[in-house]
Amino acid sequence: MKQEQDRDSKRYRLSYDIHTHTTFSHGKGSIEDNVIAGKSKGLKAIGISDHGPGHLTYGVKRRNISVMRKEVDRLKLLYTDIDILLGVEANIINLSGKLDVTEEEIGQFDYLIAGYHYGVLGEKPMQSIGLHLQNYILSGLLKMSTKRQKALNTELVVRAIYENNIKILSHPGDKGVFDIREIALACADRGTLMEISTWHDWLTVEGIKEAARTDVSFVIGSDAHTPDRIGDCQGAVSRIKAAGLDFERVTNLIVE
Ligand SMILES: [Zn+2]
Ligand SMILES: [Zn+2]
Repeated sequence: MKQEQDRDSKRYRLSYDIHTHTTFSHGKGSIEDNVIAGKSKGLKAIGISDHGPGHLTYGVKRRNISVMRKEVDRLKLLYTDIDILLGVEANIINLSGKLDVTEEEIGQFDYLIAGYHYGVLGEKPMQSIGLHLQNYILSGLLKMSTKRQKALNTELVVRAIYENNIKILSHPGDKGVFDIREIALACADRGTLMEISTWHDWLTVEGIKEAARTDVSFVIGSDAHTPDRIGDCQGAVSRIKAAGLDFERVTNLIVE
């Protein structure tokens, strides 16, 4: 009982939050709004990571990437007590392991997040539509899966991890059935952080337990689509506790 009280009296916060969205994709705040929110939460660094341009409905417009870069560089001069970074939440597009950003575009970002989302067609539209539909109908609606589907989804993510320099894999396990152990092994090997999201319920408690059996490191991402959610770590901390994960393995979690 006393131990429980001690645990509850701790304060949890993030040192940095580099998974946030703005109006350049489907977030509600501007880049500056997110920076101000990050400052108010006491973050050392804030990252802007709007959706990759390959997403049909809410991807960032390619022409806006340089606009965002200029805005981040302008704000860095204005707000010197917080690091401001420009990233992207790129979409894993098909089994080639490619992302929906070009080499030239990657050069404008400070880091890459990547995740699996519906609404991205890439180079093999029919194959992508088939995979998305299968995942949406079977996993999303019917809560079912097949071995083949799980193997395909896992291969998609593992290839992307090996073919790209991905800092964070966003909400692993979301929107399909994946072999979390295989993905965690790839992330550990490549130094990619697995996200424990507070916007989504992924990684799940079971997913955290599974991944924790490898050497992978974790990061909490607010995935904030509104400035008030920036720096939010509550839901992630609850799942971390439930999974019994050592807080030390979460790179941006401060426990006081
Ligand atoms: Zn996402
Ligand atoms: Zn996101």
